[in-house]
Amino acid sequence: MNTIKNIGFIGLGNMGKPMAENLIKKGYSLNVFDLNKAVLADMASQGVTVANSPKAACQGVDMVISMLPAGQHVKSVFMGDDGVFASLDPKTLVADSSTIAAADAREVAEAAKAKGIRFIDAPVSGGTGGAVAGALTFIVGGDADAFADAKPVLEAMGKNIFHAGGHGAGQVAKICNNMLLGVLMSATSEAINLGVKNGLDAKVLSDIMLQSSGRNWTLEVYNPYPGVIDTVPSSNGYSGGFMSKLMLKDMNLAKLTADDIGVATPMADQARKMYTQHVENHADMDFSSIISVFDESVL
Ligand code: NAD
Repeated sequence: MNTIKNIGFIGLGNMGKPMAENLIKKGYSLNVFDLNKAVLADMASQGVTVANSPKAACQGVDMVISMLPAGQHVKSVFMGDDGVFASLDPKTLVADSSTIAAADAREVAEAAKAKGIRFIDAPVSGGTGGAVAGALTFIVGGDADAFADAKPVLEAMGKNIFHAGGHGAGQVAKICNNMLLGVLMSATSEAINLGVKNGLDAKVLSDIMLQSSGRNWTLEVYNPYPGVIDTVPSSNGYSGGFMSKLMLKDMNLAKLTADDIGVATPMADQARKMYTQHVENHADMDFSSIISVFDESVL
């Protein structure tokens, strides 16, 4: 394939906008679309070409990147009578970075293939901070040649670019990671609460577990107890970060992925039940606020 220079970018939300801005900084030429007119006006004020439909954003580009909320949005943008695939030049490479069900990613890949279009699922890890810093982890599912062509573009937005396997594998790996994260955050909260209720200081206990066999990412960089790490959402009223409702979305995707092939996930089932209940009143709070299930006074 020729070198990728022109990119159609669809979905300029919390993640997509900074990702698009990093591509622009690295010299790519963008044509963008979002349903949100305000974000389009902002991009236009930066000199970026703004389209009036997903199809229009993808005319004459070398590559399309989408960053949309969920599977239904990805399917409606790409598939169907008025979707992007209906008129896309078959030499265009398409990468969807939204977090969606692996089955949906495979369905979109099939629809692309029927038109001779190459498609990869390329979900990300690293949150809005990683998106702004151009330090995302991309987890790609798709053919090796499409991965190789997409890699330099993904490197303009991320630091670690993995090829997980065939179509849908990127989504499976992403969902395995986030399922584990949901369990780790819930279990770490449970352990800290047990210690605190027994009179221990949360920071002292966290330092001990960090140097012991309970060590994990949440203790290292995202402690759920207020005041243990100053810079994380738990020390800032659980605002910002990764919303509990998005963690629940990913836990539900993990459940779907497991049920599809009859695999048991009992630990994740327990954490998912906790997040389901938690989201009823704290949907927009960072996912570390799950610790309030054990001790509401932290909120
Ligand atoms: P967001 O809601 O901020 O952004 C989504 C954007 O898509 C919005 O601007 C919306 O207007 C636009 N959109 C919706 N339907 C559209 C359509 N039909 N055509 C064009 N634009 C449309 O969401 P986000 O936080 O940017 O997340 C995007 C994806 O990335 C989700 O799948 C999410 O699970 C995943 N993700 C998010 C994070 C995070 O920390 N926010 C981290 C990793 C992965």
